[in-house]
Amino acid sequence: MIELKNVSKWYGKFQALKNCSVSIQKGEVVVFCGPSGSGKSTLIKTINGLEPYQEGEIYFKTHQISANGGDMNLLRTRIGMVFQHFELFPHLTVLENLTIAQEKVLGRSKSEATEKAQTLLKRVGLQAHAEKHPGQLSGGQQQRVAIARALCMDPEVMLFDEPTSALDPEMVNEVLDVMIELAREGMTMLCVTHEMGFARQVADKVVFMDAGAIVEQSDKKDFFTQPKSERARDFLEKIL
Ligand code: ATP
Ligand code: MG
Repeated sequence: MIELKNVSKWYGKFQALKNCSVSIQKGEVVVFCGPSGSGKSTLIKTINGLEPYQEGEIYFKTHQISANGGDMNLLRTRIGMVFQHFELFPHLTVLENLTIAQEKVLGRSKSEATEKAQTLLKRVGLQAHAEKHPGQLSGGQQQRVAIARALCMDPEVMLFDEPTSALDPEMVNEVLDVMIELAREGMTMLCVTHEMGFARQVADKVVFMDAGAIVEQSDKKDFFTQPKSERARDFLEKIL
């Protein structure tokens, strides 16, 4: 469903991605991990056109994601993204955060958008908070709103970039639980995370990056029990 072929990217003279190739099937959950600065966020952002790349090819189904981002508007509605910082609209209510893109981008009616939003708010356990503003919610609640907002667009793939790393520890699980449920329902997910408990529970594949390169991609069982590379072993020793 998503295919990267020999993707390289430079920020000026600095090469942030080196010949990265990875292929993700529909329904797969792939966890991306690796040291800080290894290129995980950059790689995720090239997939939905938020960062241009200079070499290689990226495909989402049969569509090529052009190297310079190009016209991504329609494609981006098929690819949901959740960041470390929730990036909700602070001046809108929770409900409005969930309906605005449905109405403006997908052209849904207000009542249709509201119904969808309420279904998803219920699903992330926040139906009672629809009329609040993001600033009145905890970090974990805001992140669940961000996930619900992405799901309102009926994406075919969800990209997560360290969705729990800005949260207080007691809020991490409420967000991971939503992600685990989504994974179990068969959503195709690419997740940058250091939550190895999440990886062990639901990942199909673990991709380990270092210095802009994909050093290793393995079945999660192999990754945790017999990492192939020295660098992955060092990394696992530090975080487990
Ligand atoms: P972290 O775990 O800290 O989030 P990461 O693996 O997500 O790290 P990236 O954010 O993708 O790493 O960054 C990869 C490299 O590219 C880093 O060396 C970073 O300094 C550099 N980089 C990232 N964004 C930019 C930018 N906008 N301009 C220049 N260099 C950048
Ligand atoms: Mg990052």
